[in-house]
Amino acid sequence: MRPISYSRATDAATAVAAVSSDPTSEFLAGGTTEIDLLRQNVLHPRRLVDINRLPLTDIGTTRDGGLRIGALARMSEVAASPLVRERFPMIRQALELGASAQLRHMASMGGNLLQRVRCPYYRDAQSSCNKRDPGTGCPALEGFSRGHAVLGVSDHCIATHPSDVAVALAALDARVHTLGPHGERTHAFDDFFLLPGDSPHREHPLEHGELITAIEVPATPVARHSLYLKVRDRASYEFALASVAAALSVVDGTVADLRVALGGVATKPWRARRIEDFLIGAPANRDTFAQAARGELADARPTLMNAFKVELARRTVVRALETLVGDTGRSPA
Ligand code: SF4
Repeated sequence: MRPISYSRATDAATAVAAVSSDPTSEFLAGGTTEIDLLRQNVLHPRRLVDINRLPLTDIGTTRDGGLRIGALARMSEVAASPLVRERFPMIRQALELGASAQLRHMASMGGNLLQRVRCPYYRDAQSSCNKRDPGTGCPALEGFSRGHAVLGVSDHCIATHPSDVAVALAALDARVHTLGPHGERTHAFDDFFLLPGDSPHREHPLEHGELITAIEVPATPVARHSLYLKVRDRASYEFALASVAAALSVVDGTVADLRVALGGVATKPWRARRIEDFLIGAPANRDTFAQAARGELADARPTLMNAFKVELARRTVVRALETLVGDTGRSPA
């Protein structure tokens, strides 16, 4: 039994001061992952600062017509927002496919971005794991790795980033706003998730006590015609084996605008820039989609157990883009 002290913050500055001044303290938001990890003896904070009453729950538009989501808005609230449903359908779909209804009602958007990996070795406190205990090794490299990553991996960690909505946000160039002990900062979404490299325990460029306050998505007209396609072992309550967030505009049979990001196959939400660069200006058909997907996966480093993900990811990309083209044919965006 480890004693944990608990306090409740009512404003962001107090919460940041409380956590940043004590290296043994952590924020507590929805708790849908954190409480599990406390019980499993994976995380060991001595003090929890509850931030659930902070006024960070608004969902609205920015001055340039983009979307601003308070860090403590619940996944279910964001998915139900008419603004999100109309302008960013891929965000809604990723949220609805991302967790059970009960979890969506509890889990916050900021917490979703910071959720820990689902690698079974990470979650077993008796196992070695470079991410949990730096320098102890990575048993997944030679062990059970069916759900692990094939892109962005290192010799020190191959855990897949588990979030669905983060994949949609990566495709849309979202920004993460924070308040830390040294003031406010804005992080480009791609920079907010660190590759494991030789320090997989560092997942984000946050200081201790730096709090996510909001997520902003710039106005993105192509996002009105978008989808999130998730392939998994069963139809609910399961993480992606491969997923694709895509937004597509086709004019006269040619790709005019495109956003693509991959989930379930990479150590971070994976912006598929090779696919975008290859396809913009190219004919919108299955052959070019398949070529682009092959290029994106060219540097994949699978294990024996997850080699199937390379082909699965390619096919998921093609299916997502073909679906969007088909939708365009039926009802032009
Ligand atoms: Fe730990 Fe990463 Fe290896 Fe899993 S893949 S055991 S999280 S170091």
